[in-house]
Amino acid sequence: MATTEKLIHTRNIGIMAHIDAGKTTTTERILYYAGRSYKLGEVHDGTATMDWMVQEQERGITITSAATTVKWNFNNNEYTYNIIDTPGHVDFTVEVERSLRVLDGAVAIFCAVGGVEPQSETVWKQADKYKVPRICYVNKMDRLGADFFSVVNQIEDRLGANPIVMQIPIGVEADFVGVIDLVTNKAYVWDESDERSFEILEVPEEYKEITEKYRNALIEGVAEEDVSLMERFFEDNNSITTDEIIKFVRKATVDMRITPVFCGASFKNKGIQPLLDAIAAYLPNPYEIPPAEGIDPNTGKVVVKNADANEPFAALAFKIATDPNVGRVAFFRVYSGTVHSGSYVLNCSTGKRERISRIMKVHANKQEPVESIEAGDIGVAVGFKTIRTGDTLCDEKHPVILESITFPEPVVSIAVEPKTKDDVDKLDIALAKLAEEDPTFIVKVNEETGQTVISGMGELHLDVLVDRLKREFNIAVNSGKPQVSYREAVTRTIHHKEVYKRQTGGKGKFADIEFEMGPVDEGFTGLQFINDVKGGNIPKEFIPAIQKGFELAMRNGPVAGYAMESLKVRLIDGSYHTVDSDSLAFEICARIAFREAAKKAEPVLLEPIMKLVVISPDDYVGDVTGDLNKRRSVLEGVDAKIKYQVIRARVPLAEMFGYITKLRSLTSGRAAASMEFLEYQQVPEFLSEDLIKKLKGY
Ligand code: GDP
Repeated sequence: MATTEKLIHTRNIGIMAHIDAGKTTTTERILYYAGRSYKLGEVHDGTATMDWMVQEQERGITITSAATTVKWNFNNNEYTYNIIDTPGHVDFTVEVERSLRVLDGAVAIFCAVGGVEPQSETVWKQADKYKVPRICYVNKMDRLGADFFSVVNQIEDRLGANPIVMQIPIGVEADFVGVIDLVTNKAYVWDESDERSFEILEVPEEYKEITEKYRNALIEGVAEEDVSLMERFFEDNNSITTDEIIKFVRKATVDMRITPVFCGASFKNKGIQPLLDAIAAYLPNPYEIPPAEGIDPNTGKVVVKNADANEPFAALAFKIATDPNVGRVAFFRVYSGTVHSGSYVLNCSTGKRERISRIMKVHANKQEPVESIEAGDIGVAVGFKTIRTGDTLCDEKHPVILESITFPEPVVSIAVEPKTKDDVDKLDIALAKLAEEDPTFIVKVNEETGQTVISGMGELHLDVLVDRLKREFNIAVNSGKPQVSYREAVTRTIHHKEVYKRQTGGKGKFADIEFEMGPVDEGFTGLQFINDVKGGNIPKEFIPAIQKGFELAMRNGPVAGYAMESLKVRLIDGSYHTVDSDSLAFEICARIAFREAAKKAEPVLLEPIMKLVVISPDDYVGDVTGDLNKRRSVLEGVDAKIKYQVIRARVPLAEMFGYITKLRSLTSGRAAASMEFLEYQQVPEFLSEDLIKKLKGY
């Protein structure tokens, strides 16, 4: 238990939504009402504050997670909200995972017309995985076809949640004027002419019955929290106070038994203030979540990091960004202890001691220097030389590695080259910077062609990165067509002996190794290296060089130059020369041996297989599955829901470029799909010969 709990009025929250549900608009309104944003910026005129990267505005989607701090008064207390921006597009899974890892609660936004979309499902499941308590906000109540209660049902049916209605909309579509708050039993009606003001009125006569019904459901929904509450409720339901309701809804929400649902029309400035209240009332403070766990790198033991400002410092860097004014900045969440501006910390992931020259709290368009940041809070540090997303920062005397974020494999690649030769060096530097920010973005130079190849999570991910090269680094590039990132593997275990000998005057080079090479044991990825050399036939000090030689060589497989997913090498024997043998000779020997041996071990090409979910109205299911059949897919199941079906399939990524456009035309835009990486699998024989020829360029 924390000895100081200064941050009970702090909320670290994320706003999650399917694209177009209104996340940007709602965030913008939150910044406006919480007093820090100067004017209302509409998404369509491109002045939204949160979307600080230009191309996000152009695409109308939010790509990067920035953290923004605002203040809000609720029940006579000033609350601090750290809003961690969470993207909705599946191509940016890593950004979603990264933000879910550090936030304590979330607001899930749904469109009152579109309801629960397939991507909402993906993000919802991720939030379940990270055990993030949520409240829901049904936006766009003013739109034609808005249906609040239908969305509440979808939250229950499609997301498997336990939604509790907290507000009843007053009017709908063009007549939507406000909400009835079921906790206070009052109507909130907004003034069209003044976006900041609303009136609190009695519940209108025609809404009395429905209010009664849902108020009872609300109290019943939380009555389980306390036996006496249930009894008192049955005797006289008016005997339960507003504070009691808030307390029990809060407890049930924090424990993830219920999800309170609110509504509004952000664009029309209706519903934001009660939503801001709800964040304070129902989402957890930093002490109400389980303490973070990490590993002590010296002992390998699990250590618990309590949310206590007086314990040794431990924090997670969850985003690295390049700021035009201050350079490289690291967004971090403190789990334990306090960090001071100007102090030294250990980056436990790199082993380097670094000085934090400045600490700031950040608003979307303004930075505020602060002296220190303590357990439970979020800040931004300037001054790191080497830092990557997911690194743990800690007290030098108390090293710890916090559970890191898991990153999916990059599966799509494109070749890039600068339009002008002068930009070659600039491009290398820019790509290295971008890779530092984003662990799912990988830069490689193809040894045979000399081309620079960048790989990422999807077509859109790479598009955005190429766009950033142009805007932020002023480098125009030519990029090739997106390509699948293949892998290679061997399928047979073979025996090989390699002798490497060079005699060029003076001291020569000599190395001799004998080994078995084949597929790895189950569960291994990368190089499974076993040293079975007996009697010092190869001195111990050369063994790591042999391992390194194989590791480096594996990056270029024998089939078409793709990296090997996994490989087992069992070193059996060898010999050395007292003068001519050294580590380098053994490393080179291993590299040459790899090339020769891998060819004999029946190497094959592997391709990424994706997990695809398509949600389609009943009428189009035949067309959708028919099309999927042509794409080498394996259908895993079709679940029928009311009026639409959920199709789940495994498909090779190679067959899926341009799929979204095809799906749109097949279903008149009424189906939606989401896709994520599942595993690597051997390319079927009937395709591999032609494919390999194509990949090798003949
Ligand atoms: P995001 O993709 O989730 O960030 O969604 P945006 O905030 O960019 O909103 C998508 C579109 O919906 C924009 O054109 C907004 O103006 C519009 N929009 C957002 N909120 C509302 C609302 O409450 N009512 C209506 N009618 N439109 C809205």
